[in-house]
Amino acid sequence: MKHIGVPLFDLKRQNQELADEVMARIKEVVVSGRFILGDAVREFEEKMSDYFGNQAVGVGSGTAALYLALKACGVSRGDEIITTPFTFISPVEMIMSLGARPVFVDIDPVTFNINPSLIAEKITDKTKAIVVVHLFGLSADMPEIMEIAQNYKLYIIEDVAQAFGAKVKGKLCGSLGDLGCFSFFPTKILSCYGDGGLVVSKDEQILERVRTLRIHGAKKKYYHDEVGFNSRLDELQAAILLVKLKYLDQWIGKRRKIAEMYLDGLEGLPVHFPVAPEDYFHVYHQFTIRVKPRDRLQSFMKEKGIGTAIYYPSPLHLQPVCRSLNYRLGEFPESEKACQEVMSLPMFPELTPREVELVVSVLSSFDW
Ligand SMILES: *Cc1c(COP(=O)(O)O)cnc(C)c1O
Repeated sequence: MKHIGVPLFDLKRQNQELADEVMARIKEVVVSGRFILGDAVREFEEKMSDYFGNQAVGVGSGTAALYLALKACGVSRGDEIITTPFTFISPVEMIMSLGARPVFVDIDPVTFNINPSLIAEKITDKTKAIVVVHLFGLSADMPEIMEIAQNYKLYIIEDVAQAFGAKVKGKLCGSLGDLGCFSFFPTKILSCYGDGGLVVSKDEQILERVRTLRIHGAKKKYYHDEVGFNSRLDELQAAILLVKLKYLDQWIGKRRKIAEMYLDGLEGLPVHFPVAPEDYFHVYHQFTIRVKPRDRLQSFMKEKGIGTAIYYPSPLHLQPVCRSLNYRLGEFPESEKACQEVMSLPMFPELTPREVELVVSVLSSFDW
């Protein structure tokens, strides 16, 4: 028998809707013959500066944004950078590629974000920065974290790859710390048709350094001040982003609406739901539940044709890439437990109410 399934994610629906508008904008760039650091990137950076109230620099990817941000803060060999082991690899990878040490702090089991009450005990005289990841579309506890940063004079770099538009106490993620790093990878809330990223900062000096680093450490063409990188947002991606930006609020609204439908429909099930704390504006990059019989539930969902995913199946401190850091099993129990219990449900703005209902009814029919 054939099931009518629900995909975890489907970009084709949005692409179809926007095809004409996007193609027209792409054509403009092609005809202009300018592909690197031209009008589209400039316009996009201006729009982003207005949005965040801070200056913005377009870069090649979210990973590159983190690298450039860390380097612009002067992070180098021997420095310690605080972050969590329950996330995508990029922050840790970039900290390590600069020769610095990721110092892990466990997560809060309810929000999946860094637990601020565990940060202070990890600070040493080598600590230079905290990379705060706003996971799944929910802001970390920025008020607490900013206070710690001020007390210890640490840089705060926000990884906002999953939380474009998320807010805490009315303030946008990415505009709270010293730098905000964004990704426009195709699955993100605001996305392009390839790789792209952004760094925002209120510190004009740091941002000027990011601007220089993204273009081979040169302020003036062919005159190089320091070892940089080749990492620019390109004109085609900026043009696509300029079209998509107009729909951003609408898409975030739809994600929140879908989350509300899930929360209503699933009430009473023995599941932990991603409810936003008061004063937090969740943008639901993912709708991630946690359940004890996770693997059995995921097989059941698959059988019924419902797409699900595990973000993330293994905490970073236990992965081969971090072996040299000598972390042990049991050291970050909440992160380790989350990896056993999380499961993300279908979530994208074009998901129909009928599909959300189907996911709810399949989940409700599971033998808990
Ligand atoms: C996607 C992602 C990144 C990396 O972004 P890319 O554009 O793919 O390099 C970094 N951090 C987090 C939390 C992400 O989800």
